[in-house]
Order: sequence, then structure tokens, then C-alpha cells
Amino acid sequence: MSETLFTKIIRRELPADIVYEDDEILAFRDINPQAPVHVLIVPKIEIATVNDIQPEHAELIGKMVLVAQKVAKQEAIADDGYRLAINCNRHGCQIVFHLHIHLIGGKQLRGSAA
Ligand code: 5GP
Repeated sequence: MSETLFTKIIRRELPADIVYEDDEILAFRDINPQAPVHVLIVPKIEIATVNDIQPEHAELIGKMVLVAQKVAKQEAIADDGYRLAINCNRHGCQIVFHLHIHLIGGKQLRGSAA
């Protein structure tokens, strides 16, 4: 997989508003937020899309969801609720090919998908 700008953010070669970090995962605010809270939860290893997730990544994916839960609490949106989304490839409107979960909330969201 070719490197994306998220790898540069992970390496601190590009700036980002980081809200959480551990050995395996970084979470930072989306540059073009779709809601008052819009955070991207990103694994430090390069996995391009959901299609590239392997069984050995199962624990990491679980940890990413737990980080989303933690950041939602940190951002005080947990009780009101929020959306977690992963876009995959063209029909999913994925533009950055480094796996990430969108954590979106802080207002009443509409619809559920498309
Ligand atoms: P995707 O459509 O691939 O699921 O979403 C990629 C997200 O990355 C978009 O919401 C976009 O606004 C965000 N993004 C793109 N470039 C940057 C950047 O340089 N910094 C940050 N923080 N977010 C970015």
C-alpha cells in the first residue's frame, strides 16, 4: 500500500488536532468536520480499506471501536449519541486509503446512510 497523509500525521510530519494516542492508534479531528464533533480513529499500521482487514487485525479493530467510545465520552457526546462510520472504496466515498473510523456527533444527525 502506498503511504497516505494519515501516515504523515502519525509520524508528525503533518499537523493535526490529536485527541487520543496509544501505541497502536491515533485519533484526530477531521479537517473538514461534518458535525461539531468529527474525529478520525486511525490504526498506526497501514491497512488500506475494510477489504484489507485480516483475522489477525481483529483485536486492533476492536480497540479502535473502544477508542471511539472513549473519545465520545471525552467529547461529552456519549449519552446523546453519535455515529461511527467506515467508508470503503468508490461507492463508499473513501478518499483516504488508510483505514479509519469516523466518529461524528454533537448534533442531531439525519438518516442512517446513503
Ligand atoms: P474518507 O472519505 O476517506 O472516509 O474520509 C477521509 C476524511 O479525511 C475526510 O473526512 C477528510 O475531511 C479528512 N481529511 C483529509 N485530509 C485531511 C488532513 O490533512 N487532515 C485531517 N485532519 N483530516 C483530513
